Amino acid sequence: MSIARLIYASRATEALSDAELEQILTVSVRNNIRVGLTGLLLYSSREFLQCLEGEREPLNQTYARILADPRHSHVMILDYSEVGKRLFADWAMQRLNPLRLDRSTILRYSARELFAPTRMSAAGALGLLEELAQTGVAALVQGPRVA
Ligand code: FAD
Repeated sequence: MSIARLIYASRATEALSDAELEQILTVSVRNNIRVGLTGLLLYSSREFLQCLEGEREPLNQTYARILADPRHSHVMILDYSEVGKRLFADWAMQRLNPLRLDRSTILRYSARELFAPTRMSAAGALGLLEELAQTGVAALVQGPRVA
């Protein structure tokens, strides 16, 4: 069965507290485990960048729910591809605050040092996610290993 990867950016409707982000993560992990999805969610400065990987059908169904979620808007797909392997197989979903990254890491893939995924190119977003997957985000993420 093939694996698909969806990368999208969006803007939070209101600034989200740590508890609100944790609630999104808890529900995401619960749901994603059931359908074999994995991924990473970055949030800072009221912008999200999410990578979701798994079988096409549950991926699309999950994205449809995410798209309708009033906690964010301006949801835009940066990339959707069939892929040979997952970037984030260790996590049903994990969150990472981009402020914990080196400024140069963001700058490598963006026009400015600021994390602004709604203005990132597809290549920039994928490059950042690939680098995070390669260098290992385990020390930076904000929760236990869950997949
Ligand atoms: P329920 O378990 O019935 O409810 C979902 C939970 O979200 C409940 O605790 C509810 O109180 C709370 N909730 C719903 N809407 C609001 C709101 N407007 N304000 C405050 N709390 C609210 N879902 C996934 O399954 N996988 C993902 O990877 C995923 N990623 C997400 C990324 C982002 C940036 C956002 C904003 C949401 C994400 N979600 C994800 C959540 C998704 O949008 C749906 O809320 C969720 O999938 C619904 O799951 P459920 O039917 O089991 O709902």
